[in-house]
This record gives sequence, C-alpha cells and structure tokens, in this order.
Amino acid sequence: MRIILFGPPGSGKGTQAKLLCDEFNIPHISTGDLLRAAVGNKTPLGIKAKQYMNTGNLVPDEIMIGLIHEVLESERAKNGFILDGFPRTVNQAKALDEMFASLKIQLDCVISLRVEHDEITRRLTERKSCSSCGRIYNASQISEDHPNACPYCGGELFQRKDDTPETVRHRLEVYLKETKTLKNFYRQSNRFIQIDGMQEIGKVHDTIVSILHKRRQPA
Ligand code: AMP
Repeated sequence: MRIILFGPPGSGKGTQAKLLCDEFNIPHISTGDLLRAAVGNKTPLGIKAKQYMNTGNLVPDEIMIGLIHEVLESERAKNGFILDGFPRTVNQAKALDEMFASLKIQLDCVISLRVEHDEITRRLTERKSCSSCGRIYNASQISEDHPNACPYCGGELFQRKDDTPETVRHRLEVYLKETKTLKNFYRQSNRFIQIDGMQEIGKVHDTIVSILHKRRQPA
C-alpha cells in the first residue's frame, strides 16, 4: 500500500498515520521527522535545511526530491509506505510521479483529512505535550485533578509554542495555501480522496481502510 496523507495541523493526521502503518504493516515516512533528525545529527542535509525550517519556509525542492528519492529506493520503503509532509509543491508531486514510474510502483491514493477551522483551533489550543515522554494529549485525556501531569509517565505537560491561537491561524493559512494546487493536481488524475476528519478516531480509520480495500479490488 502506497499512500500520501494530507491533513492540516490538528486534523489527527499523526494518529491516523500510526493506525494505518499498524494495519498495513508499512512505514510512516515523514519528511518533517527526517529533516528534524538530520538537523539534530548536524548532517550536511540538516545544516542546509535548518535555516529554512527555522524561518518557517519550505526547504528547496531539489533537496527534498533528492531526500525522498533516497528513501523510496531504500529497503525500508520496499513494501509500501505512508508519505507525510511530501509532496508540498506541484514540482515535488511531479518529481514523485517520475520516481514511481522509474521504480515501477504505483501510488494507491492521496488521502486528505478535512476538519473545520474552529475545531482545529480548539483541538490545538487545548492539546498539551509531555516534557518527559513526548506523548500528546487532547483536553479530554487530561485529568481534571492533575491538569499538568502526564497520564502515562507523570511528567510535566506543556503547551507547544506554536499551538497558540495566533500561530495556529498562521499555520492553517500556510497549509491551505500549500495544499490547494496540490489537491487539484491529484484530483485531475482521480487519486484524491477527502475524508471527514471531524468523526471520532476509530470511525475515520475505518472509513479510510474500507476505501483503500475497495480501491485495491480489481474493477
Ligand atoms: P512538518 O513537520 O511536516 O510540518 O515539517 C517541518 C518543516 O520541514 C517545514 O516547515 C519545512 O521547513 C520542512 N519540510 C518538511 N517537508 C517538506 C517538503 N516536502 N518540502 C519542503 N520543506 C519541507
């Protein structure tokens, strides 16, 4: 199974990616995670990418295309993958199609999670992360008696700097601008599926899985 997953911050994309990886036994390839690891390890890629990431800009296409090319050719991606964070430009999407053609593999579909903007703002401004184990919680998962303690490890919970209402609005605008042309690119080739991300987590997952199974069946 080869899937591209789109979803604004707070759409539940990370949660759904994890469930799909478990369901289909495929790796979650997140370009944001790959770049953050490269920055952390101070690799040549990380050193180049850091300046763009720090200013909230996109890393140039040629760097990103090279990175994904390497990943797709690796053993890790042999039996499928969920791509998260790539492509982000039509140039990247076209380069990805060329990679698929040269590797003789096919993209199953592009899944986009749709969540209303008010709900995204609510989810993000209410969520907290654990400073110790890194787990992320929404408001309903946090104890009213111990609102600052991680339910899993007891570590201190904090709100991410980019989860404030003003920053959330900006992140959403950036996401919508980025994905508009990309969604049209995939719509044209009938590979685009929009899912209602307002539903409960299990329902969103079941909807995605049932669509993927249907698309796999020969016509
Ligand atoms: P993310 O975790 O997906 O939000 O990515 C974090 C940052 O990494 C972005 O703000 C960009 O600077 C960079 N980045 C990740 N994926 C890409 C991509 N496909 N193209 C360009 N820059 C990217």
